Amino acid sequence: MKVYNLSCHLDHHFEGWFASEADALSQQETGLLTCPVCDSKEIVRLPSAPRIAKHSKQELVPVNQASHQSGDLRTANGQSMVLTGSEHAHLQAQVQATVMKAMRELINKTEDVGHDFAEEARKIHYQEAPERSIRGHATVDETAELREEGIEVVSLPVFPALKDTLQ
Ligand SMILES: [Zn+2]
Repeated sequence: MKVYNLSCHLDHHFEGWFASEADALSQQETGLLTCPVCDSKEIVRLPSAPRIAKHSKQELVPVNQASHQSGDLRTANGQSMVLTGSEHAHLQAQVQATVMKAMRELINKTEDVGHDFAEEARKIHYQEAPERSIRGHATVDETAELREEGIEVVSLPVFPALKDTLQ
């Protein structure tokens, strides 16, 4: 992502986000690049060092979609993308909350068998132990063996916040 300071012939200053410099040039040449204020296609790039967009916390206006609904993050040519800092953080928090909730529910519904996981999973599979959902620790090799025997195993990522629950 590259961010350029741009200006139209009426001196409206705005920022453009592009996948690359080539992308910026081609949008400029094909007239896709327009001023969000007056719709002018006479856009010049102001002299300033490009910076990496993902470190920016400023609110930005999509170059080609200033008048469109926010929510659609893609511009007309599908290459440039704008996500404001606050929206991004909000989205991340939402995703994390959903994942954490699902993980907690899963943890509450399963029995912790710790390091006996592989053995216990096998017993359940061969009906030597009561059928139930279990969780625990298994090595990569153990997991692979279980899968070869047709036993369903799901590996879960361990989030730092869930560690207390898991131990
Ligand atoms: Zn303008």
